[in-house]
Amino acid sequence: KTFSELNLIDPLKQALSEAGYNTPTPIQAQAIPSLLHGKDLLGCAQTGTGKTAAFALPILHRLVESNKKPTPRHARVLVLTPTRELAIQVHESFVTYGKNLKLKYAVIFGGVGQQPQVKSLAHGVDVLVATPGRLLDLINQGFLKLNALEVFVLDEADRMLDMGFIHDIKRVLKILPPKRHNLFFSATMPPEIEKLANSILVNPTRVEV
Ligand code: AMP
Repeated sequence: KTFSELNLIDPLKQALSEAGYNTPTPIQAQAIPSLLHGKDLLGCAQTGTGKTAAFALPILHRLVESNKKPTPRHARVLVLTPTRELAIQVHESFVTYGKNLKLKYAVIFGGVGQQPQVKSLAHGVDVLVATPGRLLDLINQGFLKLNALEVFVLDEADRMLDMGFIHDIKRVLKILPPKRHNLFFSATMPPEIEKLANSILVNPTRVEV
């Protein structure tokens, strides 16, 4: 299979060919068609498998197709990551794949001043990548609302739990609208991760690579 058979919109295909991607990786080939249909996904995959593009491409495709604009201080897509390094990397991927689209991307994480991040949220964002602590900080101060969220992605869920983020994740889940598109990625699937996945996902497609 090639990317051209995956029915992605032309501006995405263009960005992929400019990035030098010709063939989807196994997780991309398995996940993208199901995600384009809006199905929930449980992905068992490590970093290095191409999992970021596996979720970023269909998410960008659907954002463009739905042809809506974000509301000020609101996000349409939230990607939660355990570390600032991963948050920056995932944000960069969205910017690279989505460079031909008129969408807004932002990234927020702790350990730095919050003012530039607050400013980046003021007019609303299509895709927000965040670590849990700073995300909740900005929500509690009223700089961000998640009541209009359309897509929720939990990346590296096993590492999230190892780093003690389970309560933060549950706090975030409580304020999300109940009807939404959910994506869940983890390198390993021990019982407590399965349990968390089951509490978030509705009839998910399972992909293992
Ligand atoms: P990830 O697993 O998302 O961290 O991606 C691992 C690396 O593979 C990143 O540097 C991507 O830029 C690259 N990559 C992802 N998908 C493809 C693809 N289909 N063809 C070539 N490189 C890719």
